[in-house]
Amino acid sequence: MTETKIPLAGVIGTPIAHSRSPRLFRHWLTTHGIAGHYIPMDVAHENLEAVLRTLPKMGFVGANITIPHKETVMGIADQISDRATLIGAANTLIFRQDGKIHADNTDGYGFIENLRNGAPDWDAKSGPAAVLGAGGAARAVVAALLDAGAPEILLSNRTRVRAERLKDDFGTRIRVIDWVQAGNMLDEAALVVNTTSLGMVGKPELRVPLDGLRKGVVVTDLVYSPLKTNLLLAAQEAGCVPVDGLGMLLYQAVPGFERWFGVRPVVDNATRAAALR
Ligand code: NAP
Repeated sequence: MTETKIPLAGVIGTPIAHSRSPRLFRHWLTTHGIAGHYIPMDVAHENLEAVLRTLPKMGFVGANITIPHKETVMGIADQISDRATLIGAANTLIFRQDGKIHADNTDGYGFIENLRNGAPDWDAKSGPAAVLGAGGAARAVVAALLDAGAPEILLSNRTRVRAERLKDDFGTRIRVIDWVQAGNMLDEAALVVNTTSLGMVGKPELRVPLDGLRKGVVVTDLVYSPLKTNLLLAAQEAGCVPVDGLGMLLYQAVPGFERWFGVRPVVDNATRAAALR
């Protein structure tokens, strides 16, 4: 009798108990009848490398990496995709047969797929995108928007120097706007993206004036807890096309699941419901 190995994967961060990824992966594993497991792992910074070197020996085929380890993991991985190098962070690891750790970043893919699904008429080339925030998630969003053909990105961050650094890394199609002027960039935009943590449960509200929002503009928020942030409610009120951030979380997981478990899962209403449960 041949014994088949049960593939293991998981998500590493700290804290991790709130993560929706285990519910999402369990749903896909069950839907596809795959005998695999996906586990949340609370790992402290000082233990990250030792844990990552041990997991492949325990039958793990890969892992998702979340806050606060997305940047640190870049110094541990043996191979890094061009995309992750440009962004400066990784969220998906593949443990290769030869023992090497390959790091990739699928946040930008998740962001674009979510927009394509939530706002099918949206075209990156149709006009400037206004991006609020310049943290790790913003870097993935900016990379993906430039790749998709956005003619210009208006970028505003509380800490201006962080936005300037992003412009230095990503080039001339980015225009930095002072945080106190952030509201002024909305009336030029075909797409508005909140990549800050403002508006999230337990965090302060986004205070940027939103009266510049124009009808028909696509507005998306990376915050998905709550699902309908005040930004998205204001967008709906103004006749914009609101797209919530949950889909980004679901779509960014697709490439990892396919790589680890051999099936490309779909993101549908049942997937959303499973992640929200
Ligand atoms: P990060 O690197 O820590 O960046 C945080 C961003 O929020 C920075 O731009 C920061 O500005 C801004 N910010 C925080 N507090 C602020 C305040 N009081 N006033 C103004 N700006 C403030 O975090 P991240 O990894 O980019 O994540 C950002 C958000 O995106 C989080 O809520 C995260 O959960 C969410 N996210 C969602 C998905 C998804 O799949 N939907 C994926 C990735 C991230 P400063 O530079 O001035 O500090």
